[in-house]
Order: sequence, then C-alpha cells, then structure tokens
Amino acid sequence: MKSKTIHLECKNCGWQESYTEPRKRCPVCSDDILYARYDLEMLRKLDWKSEISMRKPGLWRYHELLPIKDPANIVTLGEGATPLIHAKNLGAMLGLKHLYIKDERQGPTSSFKDRQASVAVSVMHELGITEAAVASTGNVAIAYSAYAARAGIKMWAFFPDRVPGDKIREVALYGTEVVNVTGTYDQTKEVAARFAQSRGIHYDRGIKSIAAMESMKTMAYEIAEELDWRAPDWFIQGVSGGMGPIGVAKGFEELIALGLVDRVPALGIVQSAGCAPMIEAFNNDWPVAVPVENPTTVIATLSTGNPGRAYQLLYDLMKRYGGAAESATDEEAFEITRVLARMDGLSVEPATAVAFTGLIKMVRKGKIKPDDVVVFNCSGHTFPVEKTILGNAWMREVDLSDASPTPSVPEVSLLSAVEEVAAEPVRHVLIVEDNEDSARLLQRIFESAGGYDIRIATDGREGLNIARQMQPDLIVSDLMMPEMDGFQLIEELKSDQMLHHIPIIVLTAKELTPPERTRLAGRVDSLLQKGSFLNDELMQQIIDALG
Ligand SMILES: *Cc1c(COP(=O)(O)O)cnc(C)c1O
Ligand SMILES: [Zn+2]
Repeated sequence: MKSKTIHLECKNCGWQESYTEPRKRCPVCSDDILYARYDLEMLRKLDWKSEISMRKPGLWRYHELLPIKDPANIVTLGEGATPLIHAKNLGAMLGLKHLYIKDERQGPTSSFKDRQASVAVSVMHELGITEAAVASTGNVAIAYSAYAARAGIKMWAFFPDRVPGDKIREVALYGTEVVNVTGTYDQTKEVAARFAQSRGIHYDRGIKSIAAMESMKTMAYEIAEELDWRAPDWFIQGVSGGMGPIGVAKGFEELIALGLVDRVPALGIVQSAGCAPMIEAFNNDWPVAVPVENPTTVIATLSTGNPGRAYQLLYDLMKRYGGAAESATDEEAFEITRVLARMDGLSVEPATAVAFTGLIKMVRKGKIKPDDVVVFNCSGHTFPVEKTILGNAWMREVDLSDASPTPSVPEVSLLSAVEEVAAEPVRHVLIVEDNEDSARLLQRIFESAGGYDIRIATDGREGLNIARQMQPDLIVSDLMMPEMDGFQLIEELKSDQMLHHIPIIVLTAKELTPPERTRLAGRVDSLLQKGSFLNDELMQQIIDALG
C-alpha cells in the first residue's frame, strides 16, 4: 500500500494534526469527536473508482480511506459488501417504488457493528493493544468479541439491563469476560471506562473513536456503488448513539470530494418512544438534546439516553442535507417485525423494526415521497425475541401417538394426520386488480394471515364472471382497470340478486372526486388508499367485512 497521509481534525475549532494514534479530545477546545481527513485530492486524480471495482469485495477494498497504516494488521471476517435489496412488497405496501434494504444482517455477526469491529480491532492490533473493555447493548460486544478472538485480544464486555440473554451468551461463547451492570446504558459506559482505567487497559470509546465513524462511512461507499454512483434521497436508520448516519454522511461527503456523487442523502433517524432524546430535540429544532435519564424501552439496542455531542453533529447534518425524525413504541415495533418477515422475508431485530415503523410514519406524513430512492439499514435477527413476537398458537401439530408402534406409520393415520394439518375454515376471496404487483401483494397478505382461498381477476369483466361462478365471501377491488372499471363492477354486483350481499372492499390509488364518492356510497364496506395501509389494518377491515 502506498503510504497515506491522515490528519485528525476538530470540526469545532479547526485544530489539526497528523494522525499517529487515536486521541481522546481536541487539545484546543476539548471537543471529544474528532475527524480523520485523507488526501482526497490525490485520490481524485487516480481512477480510484475503477481500481476498487477490481479489488475483492468487502470493507477493506477502501483501505486508502481507512485509518490503518499496515494492511498486515487488518483483522477481517469478510465484513462489508452486504447486498442492497429492492424491497418490492414492502415498497408496494407503502407506495414507494425505490425502497432498498441495505442488508447488514449478512455481516459475520448479523449487524453493521461488524464494520466497526473490524476497523476498531484492526486499530487495536496495530497499536499493540492486547486487552480492552467495551460497553454495549449487545451488537457491538458480539462483533468485537468475534474479531478480538481472531486477533488474540482479551475483551471485557459491560452490559446494561434488558439486553437479551441470547445475545450475552453469544459474547461469552467467544471467550469475552461478561459483566452485567444493573443500570442504564449511560451508567454502564461509565463503569466500563473506570474499570479500563483502573486496570490500565484500552477502553473503546465507540462513537467517539475514529475507527467507528470511519467504519460506518463504508456503507455510503457501498450504497453509492450499488446505485451506479448515485446517492439515494434518503438513508434511514434506528439510532442510539447516532454513529451510523454520521458516518454515512461523512462517506458521501468524501465521495463528493472525489467527484463520484453529487450529494449527501437526507437522514431519517428513528428512536424508541421510550428513549427518544434526539427525536424530541430535532422535532423541536433544538441543537442540543435533553438526556433521557431512565429509558423505558425494552429494546436495549436503542437505549442511549444521553447522545451528547453526537446529536449536535447529527442536527447540523440534518439541517444541511435534510432529515426527518420519528419515534415508535415497542408494541408498534413488535407488530412491524412480523410485517417485515411476512412481506419480504426479512427476519430483523426489534431495533430495525423500530426504524421501519419510523419510515412508515415518514411516508405517511409526506416527508418521504413515492419516487424517492430510500435506503434502509437493516440489521440483526429476530432470534432473541421470537418468543415475544410470535405469542402462542403459531405451530401446527401432527399427532401420531395413537398409531400402532410399527416402524412405519400406517397409511391411514398418516392421511388423517396430514388432512388435519390443512383443515381450517376457508373463506373464498376474489381480488379484482389489474396491477400484477398489487395483486401479488394482496394475495401474500391473505396467505400469511391463513385460512383464505384466493382468486384473482385482472379487470371488472373477468371479476364479474368469476364472482358468478364462485360466489365469494368477499371481493377486494381496484377502481381503475381496463375493460370494466371498479365503479361499473360494483354497480353490476349490487344489482345482481345472487351477488348483491357480498361485502366489497375497495383499494384505490386514486383521490376520489365527490361524484365518485357518491357513486360508491352505501355500496362498499370499506375504502382504502393504496400505499397507505399496512397489512394488519387491511386484515382488520377484512375481518370486519366478513362479519
Ligand atoms: C447499533 C445499532 C443501532 C444504533 O446505531 P447508532 O448509529 O450507533 O445510533 C441501531 N440498530 C441496530 C440493529 C444496531 O446494532
Ligand atoms: Zn477543537
């Protein structure tokens, strides 16, 4: 590697020095978040873009812009290079054409903390550190423990209350010493810092370290590359300390300096309602957040009560590049966890569901527009909380205990057992919808609820024919369709002796005019705006309509 020049810079007062090793704060103004600066001019002259495209995928292909001097010190598990997935079903549900999932679950320990761990542990390794302490709400400790194991660094992990036991056990498995602190996350950080000081070992300052911010910015590089060197309109994430969006914004700023993109995305930040100091501050236009002393959320991942200086940085970025802030309750998040899994196959941890709930609110409030390109940071796995999310009665049973104890199950008992599995009252539903994606989405919603038999017609004429044949229990219809539109279909249905009793739910993308409303009045059981409903709301309307 060519020798690189890195400077440390204080954004607050402009102080600079050549980077040799991490510093706790600015020696002039004491600001405790410093920035790493690189010779971007020089890289701009080289064809960096085509050069990296020829390297192995992953975070370290950007090594010129990461704070490591000797590549021999890199500690890697193949982090980064996570896919950007087009979320078609969730997008259709929200009326977003370009919703992308940055699937950070595909990192070595299932969260974007793998990036941080790889850079931070590499820095430790380069500095000759052999023992370190970290405070964590789960994901940081898991990631650091995995990487520290590879580097032969002894780790101490300090956890606050409410971190799921399954996460803590994974940390112990990697050989990390686990310390449980009965207190808040902010208190836990203090305990960990004191412990490290008294033992004379390295304390990882998380968001306040160069390694953390530098690692997060690699998400920006990857997103830009996947979008053909464009910046999205939005980057959305659940925030605790705020490091993700701050790092991502820095990444896009560097790409602008390199002449590779033209802007920084707006930052959509989301917190748990039980610990939302940044959301409160941003929505009141306060540049400084009021700390939350006692977070009430059970979602430990998002329980930083005092965001400190990081919020000020985030506030400045959101003012400059645009932004939106929303909070979501734990209950809302648990509900949305199921939606993410059922609609697009994404098993996520609750912190990610909090973020998605916030995204839904941003769309509904018109902050995010239907044509915006939205990138959503998706991390974790439902595993530690599945007990909570699923509740009871989520499994079917095949009972063979009555079958005679022969080695193979007799054909008859097997048949009846299998029949029982699928035995449930079935309601017949006709969907009349010309848009293929919408039809598939609706079908998916019914199927994941279970107990519905679905037929699809692609215009009113076909819908009417099928309705006459099958006598459905419910009709869900679009309005704007070729051949026979929804208005005409509904008139035909209501004037037919055999069909007029069938409940009708109308789903439309169209703003209705007053005469159109009059045409539907008294004839339909409910009218939903496409892209503004969630499947659970639709299911409720369906259950109500079916009586
Ligand atoms: C760490 C983490 C967050 C919070 O990230 P910050 O950028 O540090 O605020 C959110 N969600 C998940 C899944 C996390 O692991
Ligand atoms: Zn300073």
